[in-house]
Amino acid sequence: MKTYRAYLFDLDGTVYRGDVPIPESVVALRELTESGANIVYLTNNASRTPEQIAAKLCAMDVPASPEQVVTSSLVTAEAIRSEMPGASVYVIGEEGLMAALRAAGCRFDDERPDVVVVGIDRQLTYDKLTKAALAIQRGARFYATNPDRALPSDQGLLPGNGAILAALEATTGVQPRVFGKPEPAFVHYALKRLGVSPQEALMVGDNGQTDILAGARAGTDTLLVLTGVTRPEEVATLPVAPTYVAANLKEWMERVEKTGSAGSTGGAKTG
Ligand SMILES: [Mg+2]
Repeated sequence: MKTYRAYLFDLDGTVYRGDVPIPESVVALRELTESGANIVYLTNNASRTPEQIAAKLCAMDVPASPEQVVTSSLVTAEAIRSEMPGASVYVIGEEGLMAALRAAGCRFDDERPDVVVVGIDRQLTYDKLTKAALAIQRGARFYATNPDRALPSDQGLLPGNGAILAALEATTGVQPRVFGKPEPAFVHYALKRLGVSPQEALMVGDNGQTDILAGARAGTDTLLVLTGVTRPEEVATLPVAPTYVAANLKEWMERVEKTGSAGSTGGAKTG
């Protein structure tokens, strides 16, 4: 059953949709957890802390600890800690990003920060955009937790962090350094935490443009589940073909159990 030493799961569209769990995923994740598999949850959502996300998963009957959750905020904060220890930051973002930067030893400075860090901020104001734009023009580095332009909701697409970045790019002409998926560094960060090489891991997600691309760039096998963003008819046109495609997580697990193996690495195995 344990074809891989570690499994990296995207959350929204893979484990749940918004606040609604995907039943096939809950069953499969419980089974995988009970089998003793190494599981990490990898989310571009920069607004929540790992503690909040683990609590949300547990409330959905998916066993998870904060140590199993890696957010784009954590990866961004870790990069600042390792490359510019004690840096000052101006932040557009919510609690998840603030907490990660605080824990990484960053100082907060509205006027002359070393780095402007931008994550989704649902209290965004013109004043915040102004401070960030002026700091970037004064030479601050421009970092972004994730590039997602739009967030799917039951009402339609809502502005994502990429929309905020677009406003700052339009103002300053500067492009941000981005840390979330599809950047492979995000996947490498999670693998390093587990002590597992890319060849021993499977990246699972619903988005062929971000999850699957991030996994492929990082050197992991990939499983695309058709429970979220990517539609079945889009699979053939993805920038990178997933190693596996499944209707949902439970269907893939049953396939693995039936054949005794998910198969070796190689070309795409769809169906
Ligand atoms: Mg997703």
